[in-house]
Amino acid sequence: MTSFPAMVAAEPGPAVLTELTDRDLPEGDVTVAVSYSSLNYKDGLAVTGKGKVIRNYPMVCGIDLAGTVETSESPDWVPGDDVIVTGWGLSESHPGGYTRRQRVRSDWLTRRPVGLSMAQTMAVGTAGLTAMLSVLALERAGLEPGPREVLVTGAGGGVGGVAVALLAATGYSVAASTGRSETHDYLRSLGASTIVDRADLATAGRPLDKERWAGAVDTVGSQTLASVLAQTVYGGSVAACGLAGGPDLPATVLPFILRNVSLLGIDSVMAPAHRRREAWERLARDLPRDRLDMMTTVEPMSKLPELAETILSGQTRGRVVIDTAR
Ligand code: NDP
Repeated sequence: MTSFPAMVAAEPGPAVLTELTDRDLPEGDVTVAVSYSSLNYKDGLAVTGKGKVIRNYPMVCGIDLAGTVETSESPDWVPGDDVIVTGWGLSESHPGGYTRRQRVRSDWLTRRPVGLSMAQTMAVGTAGLTAMLSVLALERAGLEPGPREVLVTGAGGGVGGVAVALLAATGYSVAASTGRSETHDYLRSLGASTIVDRADLATAGRPLDKERWAGAVDTVGSQTLASVLAQTVYGGSVAACGLAGGPDLPATVLPFILRNVSLLGIDSVMAPAHRRREAWERLARDLPRDRLDMMTTVEPMSKLPELAETILSGQTRGRVVIDTAR
């Protein structure tokens, strides 16, 4: 039986590159030849072993995968179909995408959208899907392009970069908050018109501050999210999708009860299939490919231990695609 490499956490602690065979594949009704995966914050936690992401061992890491169906017991999929899986418990309760082959449940699969290459679907990955779900939630709450800016926090990272590019391409005025001066030109090239120093949001201001943002995508949480809520305009909404700065929320209810501000929770892992379809259709339509490519680097699986440390230290710029053949 031929073997193939995979990034596996055998027990709590760092994952290592390990040879697997088909006998190691989990239960599922579709087997996928995996071409690419991606690097997300949660992957950093799993690969280094620094976060409690993995629920059973041994575990193939990687919360995303893109590849081609090899075998299928489902009437919905046939060999040769190009598919994506993001979330659904990959690398948590079900083996994930840092491997050449994986077996998954057919109802987790999304068809590769027309117009996005296999590698580009993973340049989007969980991070980009989360950015899109955030923008869709803001729009359902009433956000429309206008003169007031929409703020994206943690803009130098993966979710942030896709959110900036998407919002700008859809006609929104975008302010990007970052702690890294070296990302300013990059963020402007993605479409941000204003750069906000993340330190300005990291200290407590007044519970109701000057109204500044028509809406926001917040990937940081903690004091940053509290500051953003306090600066959101009357009737505006904030999509909370991350905790890069911490899971707490030291806020007051004043923005909610005096300014009618809404706080929208965003989860991509268990997002229902119809929301994912809507999000991938919008991504394929609205996300400019040149900007997606500009924010993406492609790296081999062998470099994952180093890449995982980098994303946890907040130093990854944009998106990292993992080439499972290398
Ligand atoms: P990245 O590491 O790529 O981006 C996070 C960015 O946040 C960094 O680049 C940095 O941006 C900023 N940042 C890092 N540390 C701090 C800090 N201490 N204080 C303030 N800002 C900080 O991660 P992702 O984009 O992949 O994920 C972002 C967040 O979203 C994570 O918390 C992740 O867990 C969450 N997430 C949630 C999902 C969901 O379904 N809800 C799905 C995917 C991700 P800069 O240098 O520009 O300031």
